[in-house]
Amino acid sequence: MNEKLLIKTCPTCGSDTIELVVKDITRKYKGQTYTVPAIAFYECSNCGEKVYDRAAIQKIESHSPAYHHKHALADA
Ligand SMILES: [Zn+2]
Repeated sequence: MNEKLLIKTCPTCGSDTIELVVKDITRKYKGQTYTVPAIAFYECSNCGEKVYDRAAIQKIESHSPAYHHKHALADA
């Protein structure tokens, strides 16, 4: 798999202010807060929409208590 998500316009508002950012993100699962460091995703500065690509989602899931495994699979 070599596909790279490329977004030029926001899928929600159509603005071209959406851009690729790398940030730590904090999420909640069943009242439990967890942080996933250095996630690359697209963020629209117009409407605040966030778009995650496959790699980002996999990384988030690997940190999530909902997907808690003794040995998280490394990125293939
Ligand atoms: Zn937008």
